[in-house]
Order: sequence, then structure tokens, then C-alpha cells
Amino acid sequence: MSSNNVEISKSHAVCVPYPAQGHITPMLKLAKILHHKGFHITFVNTEFNHRRLLRSRGSHSPTAFVVRFVTIPDGLPPSDADATQDIPSLNESIIKTCLGPFRDLLAKLNDNSNTSNVPPVTCIVSDGIMSFTLAAAQELGVPQVQFWTTSACGFLGYMHYTTLIEKGYTPLKENVDASYLTNGYLEKKLDFIPGMKDVRLRDLPSFLRTTNPDDFMIKFVLQETERARKASAIVLNTFETLENFPSTSVPNRPLTFLVKHVDDENLKGLRSSLWKEVPECIQWLNNKELNYVVYVNFGSTTVMTPDQLLEFAWGLANSQQEFLWIIRPDIVSGYESILPLEFVEETKNRRMLASWCSQEEVLNHPAIGGFLTHSGWNSTLESITSGVPMLCWPFFAEQQTNCWFSETKWGIGMEIDNNVKRDEVESLVRELMVGEKGKEMKKKAMELERIG
Ligand code: UDP
Repeated sequence: MSSNNVEISKSHAVCVPYPAQGHITPMLKLAKILHHKGFHITFVNTEFNHRRLLRSRGSHSPTAFVVRFVTIPDGLPPSDADATQDIPSLNESIIKTCLGPFRDLLAKLNDNSNTSNVPPVTCIVSDGIMSFTLAAAQELGVPQVQFWTTSACGFLGYMHYTTLIEKGYTPLKENVDASYLTNGYLEKKLDFIPGMKDVRLRDLPSFLRTTNPDDFMIKFVLQETERARKASAIVLNTFETLENFPSTSVPNRPLTFLVKHVDDENLKGLRSSLWKEVPECIQWLNNKELNYVVYVNFGSTTVMTPDQLLEFAWGLANSQQEFLWIIRPDIVSGYESILPLEFVEETKNRRMLASWCSQEEVLNHPAIGGFLTHSGWNSTLESITSGVPMLCWPFFAEQQTNCWFSETKWGIGMEIDNNVKRDEVESLVRELMVGEKGKEMKKKAMELERIG
């Protein structure tokens, strides 16, 4: 220790998640692991999400002094909404806004005159899509480690966007002829992505499905993957036996590492939910039989139309299975998520509806027999590590790729058509819970749980 009480010998990692639930949660798990290994941690949230974390906990500080939480602005107009922000607008704003405040923050953390017990910053652990941190790390002369919270297969898909453009697969050709999109163009099988033989165009991360050559999300992916080549190291949240990732096929040879909970009493109270969890979900499950309940949750970003909500509702009702359905208040974009009274009445003795839950606890509950999911990577991993098979209704980004892997490579998922219909939901939910295929999928999911 130095004379002004600074722990100069300690490594200090500044962790910068992308400001959305599916990124904050795994980054906080990684931060806990690093802390457990002796790192001093500064965790950087946007002001918007910091306020949400405080509200969801109903207390004043999520920090518990163990991990230091600080904020930077995201540049969007101030809001107290409890909803995921619009992704393209958020990305555009982050690119324009965040580097300046982040530089100031690093300068403050490294200020010698500061009397707090903070060692100098020794590395930046940044979400792969918060690449403005690269410039700040280079200026400071410290390594920038990128943590991509996608699956390895999704990451590989993004890394091949340049090739897909060069080969003319994207942007899609709007005016070739009317049958261009409906004649199975997106069903086209590709054979040039290592480890993904016969992947269809429609299984690759969704942003390539645009007809606009100047599409913002395509350009964003190109920029972020280009910067990934300059990172000191890349970490992916997965395990080798699951994805068998050909890491030599992309620059920087990403390290695969399943970010699990650490057993550390000091870190127990540190949670990352942006919404308030409804504890009654677990109480309700406690009264159910083994593998009996379908768990339905589409994550933090998926939105659907009122009609799609209805199709899911009647499909679940008609399946006659018990279900726990988490309906985020903003899941139907632009509308309140209202379910018909008839559905509410008919299913009242065999379902629970709630707005948010502790998903990992739910998936680990012995009553859960299957998961109807949007195939977000965290949800997929949490399902796998709980031995729960899935019905997949991918929404966007690399969820389509995760769904394809779940179904074709691991045999633990079945896809629901994007144009969701109640009859398909009903029959697939039955198959998942009581059918032969469901049993087979459960067996495979339990094998993966064992090796995960
Ligand atoms: N989650 C949760 N409670 C909910 C819904 C989601 O705790 O009611 C968590 C879930 O456990 C996961 C994350 O939110 O860790 C969602 O991440 P994912 O990658 O699955 O999807 P995204 O929200 O990014 O689309």
C-alpha cells in the first residue's frame, strides 16, 4: 500500500457492459469472477440503467462496497421508463456520446490525488459492441479485453458479414422478382462458414436481412467486428463441448469460457435485474410436480403484435399444460399487453402470469419441464445448464443462429414459425411436454447440463 492508502499492487478492471439486460447480467457475472480472483472492479452502467437497477432492487445502492458502480450518459433524452431502449437509436447515440465521458471517468479513476482506495486502471473489459472503449484503452496504454455476450456461432455469423456482402448475399435484392424472398431464397444453404455447414441464410444473425446497402445495423456490425480484430483478447460466454468453435477461423482466437456464478458470500447481494422480480413465481412452482410446467419468457427486448400475443395465449391454453408466462409490460410494442378475459378465466387453475422473474431460479426449479423462449443467448445457456429443452421463437440478432444450433446440432429445441399460429403452439407445446420427441430432447438437454 502507498502512503495515501491506495492499493497499488492490485489489478483494476473497468467493466463496460452494453446497456441492456442480456449484456449486463453476464458482464456482472464475469466481474464477480474477476473480483473473486483479486481484481478491483469498477462497473460502468449508463445513467438510465443505473436508475433502473436501483428501482428494481427497491434500495439505495446495488454496490455493497464490493464492486464500485459508476455511470456514464448514453446520450438519449432522459427517461424513467421501465423498458428496453430502441436498439439502433441507442447504438447511434453510444457511438456519438460515450467516449468523452468514459475518458473523463478513467482520468478520475487514475487521479493520483484521489484519496480513495482505488488502484490505477490496469485493463478494460468491454462488451464487444461497446468498441468506443478501444480508443480510450489505447490512449491509456492498457489492454482492452472484449467480452462478446453472444454465442460463438452468433459471433462467427457476425464475423462473416463482410464475406456475405462480398459474395452478394446481402443486402437482399428487393426487385429481382416477386418470388425472390418467398421462393426460398432465405432457405439457401451456405457452405463457406467453418463449423456451420448447411446453415441457411435465414439462420444467420438477422441484420443482414435488409435491402438497404446503407442499413445502420449492418454498418454497426461491420464496425464492431473490425474493431474486435484490434482487441487484446476476446472472450466468449460458452463452453467448448457445446459449440466446438473453430476459433482459428477468426482473428484473435477467442477464448471460450462459461461465465458461471461464483461461490462468494460477499458477492451474493449483487444482482443485475433491471425489472422488479415477482417472488410468487417460485412459490407457485413449489406446489407443482416434477417437469410439469412450461415456462414462457421472451427476454428483455423481443416485442410482438397483439395478434401474436393472442396466438401464443390460445396455443398455450389449448395445449392443456400448466404454464408460467412472464409478460413484460412492454412486450406488445405500442399497446398494453391485454389478454382476453375468456383466456384468463379458462386457464386460471393451471397457469401463473407475471411481469418479470428470477429466470435462472425458475429454470433451475424441478417443476419446469420445458421453455418457450426467444432463443437469446443467455436464456439458451441458462436452459442448457438447467437441463431444460426448448421451443424457440427467435426474434432478432443472433437468436436465429442459436435456434438453428438448438434444433439441428444439439437436438434440444424445436422452432416455432415466425408467423406464429395457435395450432402450431398447441401441438409443439404438447410434443415438448408429453411427446416422444420432447422426451428425447429432455435427455439430450440433461446430458449437456452434465457437461456444461
Ligand atoms: N431475465 C430474467 N427474468 C425475466 C426475463 C429475463 O432474469 O423475466 C434474464 C434472463 O435470465 C437472461 C436475460 O434476462 O439472463 C435475457 O438475456 P437473453 O440473452 O436471453 O435475451 P435478451 O433479453 O438479450 O433478448
